[in-house]
This record gives sequence, C-alpha cells and structure tokens, in this order.
Amino acid sequence: MTTDRPDTPDAAETTSQGPAQSPVAGAAELLAHAHRIEADAAERYGVLAEQMETHNNPDVARLFRKLEWIEGLHADKILGRAADTPLPALGPWEGKWPGDDSPEAVDLGEAHYLMTPWQALQMALKAEQSAFAFYDRLAQTATDAQVKQLATEFAEEEREHVELVLKELEKYPPPDETWSEDPDPAGSPE
Ligand code: ZN
Repeated sequence: MTTDRPDTPDAAETTSQGPAQSPVAGAAELLAHAHRIEADAAERYGVLAEQMETHNNPDVARLFRKLEWIEGLHADKILGRAADTPLPALGPWEGKWPGDDSPEAVDLGEAHYLMTPWQALQMALKAEQSAFAFYDRLAQTATDAQVKQLATEFAEEEREHVELVLKELEKYPPPDETWSEDPDPAGSPE
C-alpha cells in the first residue's frame, strides 16, 4: 500500500496559503495547532464511524468510534494544557502543515462502505503516523525550548497511538480478494 499523497498541490498554487511548513512560533501557536489537529482527527473518525454505521458495518464503526474518543480526549487535554495561555485563533487555511488536511485527519476518500477492520486500521495508521511525523519534525527543528518540549511530548503520544493501532491490527487479518463484493448491490453508492 502506497502512502504518498498523489494530489499534493504544486508550489505555484500554494503561495496564497503561505509557507507550507514553517515552524510554529511559540508554545501558544503550537498548542493551537495541536488542538486543531486532534479536534480534526476526532471529527474525521466520527464522520467515518457514522458512515460505517449507516452502511451496517458495525465492526469498523466501533473502531472509528474508539479512535474518535481517544482523539477527543487528546484535544481536551491540550485545551487543559493551554488553560492559562490564550490560544491564537487558527483560521481554516492557516495550519502550518503541508496540504489542506491537518496531519492526523484520515483521508475520507479512502473509505469504502464494505471495508474490513484491517483496512480501517490501515487508514488510521497512516493518520497517526502522519501526526507523529508532524510533531517529531517540530521537536527536531524547534529552536524555542518550550515548543521543543511540547512537540516531543505530543510526538510521544502519537507514537503510542501508532502502537495502539498496530496492536489492534494484530487482531484482524487482511481482507481476501472478495472483500468489495456486495451481497446486496442495490445499496451500493457506487
Ligand atoms: Zn493520535
């Protein structure tokens, strides 16, 4: 399975959105980014859970609900960290990450209504690895000591999420070749 995003916009098109990956300026800005990342991740997992519930795919729905819950807790925890620091507002296109989606948001385009838990977990794995990479890169490159410390801490939490997804993956086999054959094609949105 390839993990490259084929739709990365070229540089000429991104100038209006500012530099794609400039380091965040300080702890408050990092917390604002982290909160957005975790809230986006929770929301996206929630959307997928709902889709899977609609399509009567309860095993996958349950996994996404669990991830939604975990990321929601993470977002709340970050707000708690920021309690006495007013967080700068982060506009919808102001996140300092490459692409439009925040790094931990699963790619909805990869969802399939008949997907198996293994496939759902592969989507989650990609999102969690991408969140880890974002924080880890920041931890490596930050010059501000507080940013470095927070980014290191958040990277560690995402590493734990990656571990958790890998552990879940041990419970499920990869799908066989017939996974996308719908026993009731009338319900197919495709
Ligand atoms: Zn996570």
